Amino acid sequence: KSKISADAQGIRTTCPYCGVGCQLQLKVHEGKVVGVGRDKSGSNRGQLCVKGQFGWEFIHHPDRLTEPLIRRGDRLEPATWDEALDLVSQRFQSLLSQYGGHALAGFSSAKCTNEENYLFQKFMRVALRSNHVDHCARLCHASTVAGLATAFGSGAMTNGLNELPFADVILIIGANVTETQPVTGYRLREAAKKGAKLIVIDPRRIDLVKDAHLWLRLRPGTNTALLNGMAHVILREGWWNRDFVAARTEGFDEWREGLTDYTPERVEELTGVPAKDLTEAARLYAQAERGSIVYAMGITQHTSGTNNVFAVANLSVLCGQLGREGTGVNPLRGQNNVQGACDMATLPNYYPGYRHILEEEERRFFESFWGVESLPDWVGKTVPEVFHGIHEGDIRGLFIMGENPILADPDSSDVEAALRRLDFFVVQDIFLTETARLAHVVLPAACFAEKDGTFTNTERRVQLIRKAVEPPGNARSDWEILTALANRMGLPWRYDHPKGIMEEIAGSTPLYGGIRHERLEKVGLQWPCPDMDHPGTPFLHEERFTRGKGKFHRVEHLEADELPDRDYPLLLTTGRILYQYHTGSMSRRSSKLSAMAPEEKAMIHPGDASRFGLKDGDRAFVESRRGRVVTSVQVTEGVPPGVVFMTFHYAETPTNRLTNDATDPICRIPELKGCAIRLAPAGEQ
Ligand code: SF4
Repeated sequence: KSKISADAQGIRTTCPYCGVGCQLQLKVHEGKVVGVGRDKSGSNRGQLCVKGQFGWEFIHHPDRLTEPLIRRGDRLEPATWDEALDLVSQRFQSLLSQYGGHALAGFSSAKCTNEENYLFQKFMRVALRSNHVDHCARLCHASTVAGLATAFGSGAMTNGLNELPFADVILIIGANVTETQPVTGYRLREAAKKGAKLIVIDPRRIDLVKDAHLWLRLRPGTNTALLNGMAHVILREGWWNRDFVAARTEGFDEWREGLTDYTPERVEELTGVPAKDLTEAARLYAQAERGSIVYAMGITQHTSGTNNVFAVANLSVLCGQLGREGTGVNPLRGQNNVQGACDMATLPNYYPGYRHILEEEERRFFESFWGVESLPDWVGKTVPEVFHGIHEGDIRGLFIMGENPILADPDSSDVEAALRRLDFFVVQDIFLTETARLAHVVLPAACFAEKDGTFTNTERRVQLIRKAVEPPGNARSDWEILTALANRMGLPWRYDHPKGIMEEIAGSTPLYGGIRHERLEKVGLQWPCPDMDHPGTPFLHEERFTRGKGKFHRVEHLEADELPDRDYPLLLTTGRILYQYHTGSMSRRSSKLSAMAPEEKAMIHPGDASRFGLKDGDRAFVESRRGRVVTSVQVTEGVPPGVVFMTFHYAETPTNRLTNDATDPICRIPELKGCAIRLAPAGEQ
């Protein structure tokens, strides 16, 4: 247990790590955070995972950025805010007048607040006249936003986390919940203890397999086939919900025709899942009183990611497992505010509230609301397209607020080469990340403990964060920096607190129409919350889908872009572990977390270990067609033969040098869940 001074004052706020959004108490003594305490008033009921409990030390870490930095030759040197802001506004303005808004792009951050994400996209569209705005949702749930928005009209979790224990069958597909959203993992275990049957669909023996009634160990990348196979069985056996399909869906007949070939026997060949297990899973889900589907990046990060999401949506509407408590389709969002960053439209094709930029009426609304003559009327580029655009010389200036693509994005050597080509590159962050080191200007930002604002968690719950301590040195909140920059570029922004920004959000974003900071004090509010009297919406699609009817989509099994072959005989799949977070910039600067998981450990199957001459703890070269890294290995039956699992938490082992940047054709999510690699012992490297 951490020893926290008895004099420490508790400031309630929201955890800055994952999408559960646990409420916690930052213990503050003499202007410093000295620990974290439990807070029972939030929807997490006082529960925290190891990251929320011990991952706070980065707040006062000596590596924090305290001054703006400007590149002079090879060095980044301290500068004043006036120097840095003048330079950024002059250089962006000059690129804008020379090449137009098409030459400028910005990546926002799912770590920043709703208010900051709102201002970021407004800055990009109004000041830089560009819709090339995107953020890390492109790498995690772009397929969810595309798939569920088309099938249901809303690309978010349909139900709440605390409803999970009301389900009697929960299908968990491609979601290592106990490590990536641990408190949601507690809810699933609670459900299992109450008698719910968990069906885990995952190539890896994840921890939840221990609690599962059924574990379908599918071959990686065969999710669509498996889900189509379940639907095939449900139709064949007559287990589907005819009334729901007739009253509330469209596209059924055409979709049904496309399932003929997905017999359990063929699906067994494609996926490796025994036909009898597939049939049993289909029966359990279809016949459940309340069936819930939980999924995450195991199905989204594929070139078939959107198809996988469509297949999940198809299954749920076929069985009528929606619109009631304890049911639904529940994509678990990764970052603390990735839902909010999407809602605020740090996306290339939407204004806030998913109002499409190609709809003239929507564009006119925002022109008038933001008081500008015109807004760019073209769809911007996604993250992978921006990097291609830089290589092609089309994009010349880039503004990154709080992202670290050099470690997070696929084929990261190519990402680095793109960043080095930029005419002008600005990074705003709390640390000098691997990405920030390449910037021409670095702007020091405040972290979650040093500012007010809101995050929207994975279940659409908008919650407050509260300022507990001052930012270090001259660091400033992201919203203050964006406001100062907009003023420098001639925009009359007058924001003096995130409360006012939220009022502006509410005025332009119907989902947030009734959200005000004052209303969020207790347990926040779940959107849609259209007006000030609205109590928020715990679950969606009760009477009707957001788009009217739920829509079936015909989808086919597609193989991954790159499969193992003679030269690269293993499949690499990437993800996260419990003790670290994303590119490690926060979690690795928290000593307890760092001690618990100090280095990358590539997980390999015992059969592969002996085939490649490796044993537990050895160092190995891992090589793909794009690059090579050195790592320690962990020999485990948790991964199937032929599969290697690695994280992207460690700069010393930059796993994304190996991954493939092939993308889903609909939403452009990269295939981070599969590329071909080979292994070799690395001796004492
Ligand atoms: Fe933070 Fe997520 Fe852990 Fe909760 S479950 S404490 S939000 S990392």
